[in-house]
Amino acid sequence: MTDIIKIAVMGAAGRMGRMLVAEIIARDECILSGASDVENSPYLGEDAGILAGCCNIDIKLTADSAHIIAKSDVIIDFTTPKSTIAHAKLAAQAGAAHIIGTTGLNNDDEEMLNIAARHITIVYAPNFSIGVTVLMELTKRLAATLDEDWDIEILEMHHRNKVDAPSGTALALGKAAATGRKTDHDSKRQSTRDGNTGARKAGDIGYATLRGGDVVGEHSVIFASDAERIELSHKATGRQIFSRGAVRAAIWAKTQSHGIYNMADVLGLND
Ligand code: NAD
Repeated sequence: MTDIIKIAVMGAAGRMGRMLVAEIIARDECILSGASDVENSPYLGEDAGILAGCCNIDIKLTADSAHIIAKSDVIIDFTTPKSTIAHAKLAAQAGAAHIIGTTGLNNDDEEMLNIAARHITIVYAPNFSIGVTVLMELTKRLAATLDEDWDIEILEMHHRNKVDAPSGTALALGKAAATGRKTDHDSKRQSTRDGNTGARKAGDIGYATLRGGDVVGEHSVIFASDAERIELSHKATGRQIFSRGAVRAAIWAKTQSHGIYNMADVLGLND
């Protein structure tokens, strides 16, 4: 019989944290070994299962991350960059795998992760959705196949409260296209068109952004040539796509050798 994997959730009172706890409770291969949040969280001492909208599981939310990391096989972390780096050091000391969904890490932070990954398995992904990861890979492969006669445009739509544009995922899709086409993304990026723009430059990677309503996230990558067009699209209708992917990554990470991986590795797309 395979061992049940002990997974702790950092930031368990947060939006993603609660969904991660619910996902772990729902799966047979793993159990929740701990749930942490910040010192001043009003939820400390509350049951993590109840907070996640499930049942009482007798795991209280604590601020003692070090303690719960020490008794876990894997930790999942959707918190803040500063906290994530602190958790990576604790995970490296404890020998726990670290699944990182936190965004906004800078180059120095990522260097710290590379150092921690000498001692543990890390999976670090800006988007844990299985569908988006596959979309990214298809985009790269298509861009590698089609030449510059095929214009690449990326269209995204998000809810009215999103403050940055294009979305991080849209930019990652553009970078995947640039990698496939063996071109430099930043010099080909065209994300503002307004007024008399002139004709489209060959090789540009264009972006268009829509904002409105409560749209969770929609991305299309369009390859347009003369008389034909290919469109790859992904539509997210709930944030559980991220928690589902992150827990899958946690279960996968338990059996991997030390190093830093991404979601494409988890799905076997880099094999
Ligand atoms: P949130 O603010 O709702 O939750 C973050 C939680 O982390 C909060 O409860 C906060 O108190 C807690 N926290 C902060 N420092 C902590 C520490 N040292 N120890 C324990 N808990 C700590 O935010 P969210 O919407 O859940 O998003 C969290 C992060 O995940 C953001 O960086 C977001 O961009 C990212 N995110 C990534 C993906 C992905 O697929 N990679 C998907 C969604 C969100």
